[in-house]
Amino acid sequence: MTSLPNKKGRFGPYGGRYVPETLMSALVELEAAYLSSKENPKFKRELANALKNYVGRPTPLYFAKRLTEALRGPKIYLKREDLCHTGAHKINNTMGQVLLTRQMGKKRVIAETGAGQHGVAVATVAAKFNLECKIYMGEVDKTRQKPNVTRMEHLGAEVVGVSEGSKTLKDAINAAMRDWTTNVANTHYILGSVLGPHPYPMMIRDFQSVIGLEAHQQILKAEGRLPDCLIACVGGGSNAIGLFHPFLSNKSIRMIGVEAGGMGIASGKHAARMATGSIGVLHGTMTTLLQDPHGQIQETHSVSAGLDYAAIGPEHSYYRDKKRIEYSHATDEAALRAFRLLARTEGILPALESSHAIAYLMEIASSFDSRQIVILNLSGRGDKDIDQITSEEVLD
Ligand SMILES: *Cc1c(COP(=O)(O)O)cnc(C)c1O
Repeated sequence: MTSLPNKKGRFGPYGGRYVPETLMSALVELEAAYLSSKENPKFKRELANALKNYVGRPTPLYFAKRLTEALRGPKIYLKREDLCHTGAHKINNTMGQVLLTRQMGKKRVIAETGAGQHGVAVATVAAKFNLECKIYMGEVDKTRQKPNVTRMEHLGAEVVGVSEGSKTLKDAINAAMRDWTTNVANTHYILGSVLGPHPYPMMIRDFQSVIGLEAHQQILKAEGRLPDCLIACVGGGSNAIGLFHPFLSNKSIRMIGVEAGGMGIASGKHAARMATGSIGVLHGTMTTLLQDPHGQIQETHSVSAGLDYAAIGPEHSYYRDKKRIEYSHATDEAALRAFRLLARTEGILPALESSHAIAYLMEIASSFDSRQIVILNLSGRGDKDIDQITSEEVLD
């Protein structure tokens, strides 16, 4: 089960490579570069060194004592991806991909961004490795994540606002793919989550699996045993699969992915693909999508830009079918309550994305007993969200 995808990039029926011919050779080149680098001791050393000395890994696995006491359920550990350089797990992937970009001899990188976290992580590694960098971002996201736009510009990236469609992540990916099609000879497209055509979902999962590999060692050291349950929020699904993947073969560990419930499933304003989605193709991969009966992509809603996307990574669709990973959702309001709880109990401002995972844990905490252990992936820090949270006026 953990040796997926197959050679065609399939996770069961999901995944694959649904792209125009002009991109096919770029994907084949990328796959070859990745597969050879992955086994190359020099590449592995370089990546390990960068993760340690630049990104700040290993991130702590922190026992959240006061949160545990407040919820009166399981013993809660937080995997502190919020402490990575640039404030989220995204840089685990961008560091891997920028090293590959160099390997392929390309001088320019492009990327899409929703919350802006991926754009910042790309602009950061582009600056470090002296590459030209262009970031596509929907106009709506540009407005609601202004501090990250400024950060990218300070890092020397050009941020291009996309005003087509719903002016969010989906449209930014369309624009980035168009750019890539035109400039494929000198440009690498650094995709930000376990989405898109093969090899992206596999490669990004592998780069993010450092989260779960560390957590595996850390929990054994702290508790002398493996956890009972893992919880993470799911946008495209990279922080979740990064934590889950190294534990998948251990059947007794429960895993839960939490999607954006927005204003509630009944309102239609959400991004809970697993709750009401159906199978289709978006941005080069076959997976579970929010689409209308004609296959038109539906607009999604979430208070957190990072979860606001109509598709979920293909590997998640596969493990949903296999009933290996459970999927649920938390509303905007529940996420804001969770943000407040973590801030006040632990002195940590979580990203609104990560707050969805906390919110779901709040909901199910009483179903655990106090000897059980839960690891929750704190995918990022909440500094980028504080202006928005004040304006939601739910703090008291
Ligand atoms: C981008 C982002 C997410 C969602 O992306 P995944 O690929 O699902 O991990 C979650 N949390 C934070 C902090 C993010 O920046």
